[in-house]
Order: sequence, then structure tokens, then C-alpha cells
Amino acid sequence: SQVYGMEVEDPPVENYSDIGGLEDQILEIKEAVELPLCKPELFEKVGISPPRGVLLHGPPGTGKTLLARAVAHETNAKFLRVVGSELVQKYIGEGARLVRELFELAKRDAPSIIFIDEIDAIGAQRTESLTSGDREVQRTLMQLLADLDGFKNRGDVKIIGATNRIDILDPALLRPGRFDRMIEIPEPDVDGRYAILKIHSKNMSLGESIYLENIAELTERMNGSDLKSICTEAGMFAIRDDRDTIEMADFVMAIDKVRHNQKGSVSELS
Ligand code: ATP
Repeated sequence: SQVYGMEVEDPPVENYSDIGGLEDQILEIKEAVELPLCKPELFEKVGISPPRGVLLHGPPGTGKTLLARAVAHETNAKFLRVVGSELVQKYIGEGARLVRELFELAKRDAPSIIFIDEIDAIGAQRTESLTSGDREVQRTLMQLLADLDGFKNRGDVKIIGATNRIDILDPALLRPGRFDRMIEIPEPDVDGRYAILKIHSKNMSLGESIYLENIAELTERMNGSDLKSICTEAGMFAIRDDRDTIEMADFVMAIDKVRHNQKGSVSELS
């Protein structure tokens, strides 16, 4: 459901087996998020406070949102998602209030996971000269920091931030007790791509000519999101050709098509 500026969801359906590669990152997020949510007594006994916020960082389309949703699924936690850029652009003047409400809602519905996507949009390094837009961003960030510091760290509300611009983040966000766990989500390597292709093609009827290992090798520099599109496009080529199995040629054309789209979007930006 949509609560004005944020999405609130009962535990999402995605789980760890929907994530290709990222085994180490899954272990890390289990320890930082799952363990405190499910076994808070472990931390009490040892006498340490669990990590509060976790920051997922890395290039777009690599599974940051997917990972956050999967951990919410595994812990049976409510999933509250906001997008940093929307907080300050779409709901002008309301960013700080939305952040406050987000934390209130998360506490009320605990156990819960707050996911702040594009956190760099509100958490970029503060600059000298402030436009009114900057001031709005700053107010939103101050509220976020206040809420991060303010809530009792009992472990039943977890905050996960995501960014592909960790280089511009305000160090204030990364201090102990805030986003003090960082997990890098890299672009997949050939094994990662193979694992991702396996996931996204598991319901497809693949012909005998298909070797996913080869497709993984042909898709250098492509991310999980691209690989998912490639599977869909390959299926579309088969449909257009009136076949109900997908052959290697479909994948080759699909790779080409997705690579083209990729290039298009890059040149549009620059
Ligand atoms: P952004 O920074 O653009 O928000 P992101 O890192 O959050 O990107 P996701 O939104 O999680 O990326 O990925 C988009 C889609 O691509 C996912 O829903 C999933 O279908 C697919 N995908 C991305 N990475 C993976 C992966 N490692 N394993 C399986 N599917 C993936």
C-alpha cells in the first residue's frame, strides 16, 4: 500500500534464492540485520549493541533493493521503502515530516525494515552556498540523523540505505550508531552472471542449444537488471518467431538489443 510518499509492504516475497551471486553480501546482511531482528538476546548476552543502519553501495541494477527485500522476507518484517530523491523533489517542503512519519510507522509496525533508496539525494556532503532546495535537503537529512540517533536500538527496526554514490555521502551519516555497516554490492562477475541468468531463466523453456555459461561470458559488464531484460527479450524473439522454446540465437539478439538500449541511455545522460 502507499502511505503518502512511502511504500509500506507486508513481508515481500523475494528471498535469498532469488539473488544471484552476492553470497558474501548475503552473509553480511544476515549478521547485521537478520540476527538482531530474530535473536536480539544474543547481543544482550554478549553486551554489545547490534549494528543500527546498513548501507548497501555499488553501481545501479546490481540487486541492492532485491537484497533488502529478501532480508525483510526472511525475517518476516514489514518493508517500508522511500526514495531519497522523491522525498525532496516530489514532496517539496515535506521531506523532514515524511522522515519522521516513516520512523513512527516503522516502530508501530515492528519488526520492520526501513529501506531508503538513493540516500545520496538527501545525504550528500553539505556545500557552502545553500539554495532553498539545498536547505530543504538539509532539513530532511537533519531529521533523518535525529531519528537515527533517537530511536532505541532494540534491534526490531532496521534501516537499510542504498546508494551508488557513496563518494559524495556526508560523513555524518556514516558515524557509529548511524549507517555504520557498509556492504559493497559490485557488478557481477562471470560466475555471478551465470547465477543470475539461472534464476531469471528458471521458468523459461530453453532449447538444447542454450548454454547459460556461454551467455554469462557474452554479457561482460552487464548487471542483474540487464540480465533479467535479456531473458525477457530472448523470450520475445522466440514468440515473434512462433516458437515455444528459446534458442541461442534469441539470446544473442537479446544481448545485442539490451546493449544498444544501455548505450542509448548513457548518451542521453551525457
Ligand atoms: P538501483 O541502484 O538502480 O536501485 P539496485 O541495485 O537496487 O538498483 P535492483 O532494483 O535490486 O537493483 O535490481 C533490479 C532488478 O534486476 C531486480 O528486481 C532483479 O530482477 C534484477 N537483479 C539485479 N541484481 C540481481 C541479482 N544479483 N540477482 C538476481 N536478480 C538481480
